Amino acid sequence: MPRILPQVLRNLFRKPATVKYPYVRVEPPDGYRGRPVIDVEKCIQCWLCIQACPVRAISVNKETKKPSIWLGRCVFCGECAEVCPTRAITMTKEFELTTYDIQQAKSE
Ligand code: SF4
Ligand code: SF4
Repeated sequence: MPRILPQVLRNLFRKPATVKYPYVRVEPPDGYRGRPVIDVEKCIQCWLCIQACPVRAISVNKETKKPSIWLGRCVFCGECAEVCPTRAITMTKEFELTTYDIQQAKSE
């Protein structure tokens, strides 16, 4: 008997490791890096986040003079949150970011 057969039989009756997303939802684990969010009240305009961002996804909002993240460019590395001295940037667990509205592709 081929040695693979017992494994094939075991896997035939095993529960699937995947879930039927989006009908079944799974909470991302702690430390997951989803949408970065800026608490502008905490921002002291040091611009360390702009320097740290490897893909230049952060720019200065001309109206508020605070940083703004362009999610279309963000690679969710978390560097901006890491360097922020006031912890104004948080990596949330939000990952469903597809939108038809270009304004929603910004995180402020
Ligand atoms: S998570 Fe990374 S890529 Fe996204 S804005 Fe922050 S530093 Fe830039
Ligand atoms: S690193 Fe933090 S405090 Fe500095 S500009 Fe960015 S968000 Fe503001």
